[in-house]
Amino acid sequence: MNDVITKTKLKKDDLVQVISGREKGKQGKIVKIDREKGRAIVQGVNMVKKTMKKRSQNDRGGIMEIEAPVRLCNMMIVCKKCGPTRLGYKIEGDAKKRVCRKCGEAL
Ligand SMILES: [Zn+2]
Repeated sequence: MNDVITKTKLKKDDLVQVISGREKGKQGKIVKIDREKGRAIVQGVNMVKKTMKKRSQNDRGGIMEIEAPVRLCNMMIVCKKCGPTRLGYKIEGDAKKRVCRKCGEAL
């Protein structure tokens, strides 16, 4: 185990595409990032069924589908022009902007 926090340029609300594994090709928005584990929850991606327990007599319980975390190294940001791409940085004055490495569009 190491406690190196995964360096990622991705952040919450980014549109990403899964680039490997069972969910390859799926796109969604990042709902939550766990940098320590190097994973993120992506909306509508990597759904797993979870059995809900009955909490009261009126509650029927049942099966719910929730998103399981996807490894950050298995996803790429999606540029509106180029599709899945790598992120770069552009310095503008004092601001550091995230840009698409292919077309330079701000992301
Ligand atoms: Zn681009």
